[in-house]
Amino acid sequence: MKKVFVTRLIPDRGLVLLKKQGYEVVVNPEDRVLRREELIMFLEGKNYDAVLCLLTDKIDKEVFAAAGSQVKIFANYAVGFDNIDLVAARERNILITNTPDVLNETVAEHTFALILAIAHRIAEADQFMRDGKYKGWGPMLLLGADVAHSTLGIVGLGRIGALVAKHAVKGFDMRALYYDVKRNEDFEKEFSAEFRPNLDDLLREADFVSIHVPLLPSTKHLINADSLAKMKKTAYLINTSRGPVIDEHALEQALEKGIIGGAAIDVFENEPLMDLGFKNLDKIIVTPHIASATEETRQKMGEVAARNIVAALEGQTPPNLVGTPGQK
Ligand code: NAD
Repeated sequence: MKKVFVTRLIPDRGLVLLKKQGYEVVVNPEDRVLRREELIMFLEGKNYDAVLCLLTDKIDKEVFAAAGSQVKIFANYAVGFDNIDLVAARERNILITNTPDVLNETVAEHTFALILAIAHRIAEADQFMRDGKYKGWGPMLLLGADVAHSTLGIVGLGRIGALVAKHAVKGFDMRALYYDVKRNEDFEKEFSAEFRPNLDDLLREADFVSIHVPLLPSTKHLINADSLAKMKKTAYLINTSRGPVIDEHALEQALEKGIIGGAAIDVFENEPLMDLGFKNLDKIIVTPHIASATEETRQKMGEVAARNIVAALEGQTPPNLVGTPGQK
């Protein structure tokens, strides 16, 4: 019987799919991230054929070695795969897959929820009410900024970034600018979007800057003190990609000094920690890495990860391979 290890409990559909296939499915019994030594201990000597892992698991040479020579695939339960050492995977001919597309709508919605919430000061207003500070309607009370007809700058016009831009243009009549290593002229025509080959130009022009690049060596601290200084004083920065794309300390300083108008952030540089300075700032909204967190999307992510595992274990090419495939 083929054996699959799941590093933490996920919604049931993906697990049911694996069991229906006749596989033995072993799930980490603790509902928490396994510490590195625990993960290694769970894998060592067990001869699993596949591992379904999460973005909170750092998967590297040592973890692959612990999994042993039987393992064919590590299926990541996320679209991002910066937690996995692809070079080490290739060296051991281990297949790596992700879960693209099924979370696009949910992440784009969460991004828009953050855009609207920061512009309309929703979190501040909610706290204001709870604190009993509301004494009656006032013409100057909690004034925010309009989203409609403003300019959105998308950094990374991939699956999610493109959907955010589409909602912006179609839903809010926004002007969409984008910066990416690849130009997409079809998208430009369809959504009257404008390419900015230079990130600084986008930062200077946008009222909302939304980050959608993967975490790569080339995108680490893509947004830093210099780039924040180029943004408008009134502009908002939104990040639902990966925390280290933004220099978090530089962002805290920029908010503190009024260099930008505000920020809405779902991902952090050293999760689960966040810059302590954020706590005391009204100009930032923070959510705990939940951009893909709807019941249906988390089910679909499990199904996609499970299908990748089934394909690999049945000798087919998994649909969502990332990096250069191994040869098992
Ligand atoms: P994608 O691969 O479809 O899009 C990424 C885009 O970034 C591509 O167009 C690519 O060309 C561009 N890009 C890559 N390197 C770049 C660089 N150096 N400069 C400019 N552009 C660059 O990915 P996606 O499915 O849209 O997901 C984007 C990211 O969002 C994921 O990698 C993941 O880290 C993150 N994400 C986060 C959550 C969450 O829960 N917060 C959920 C899903 C995805």
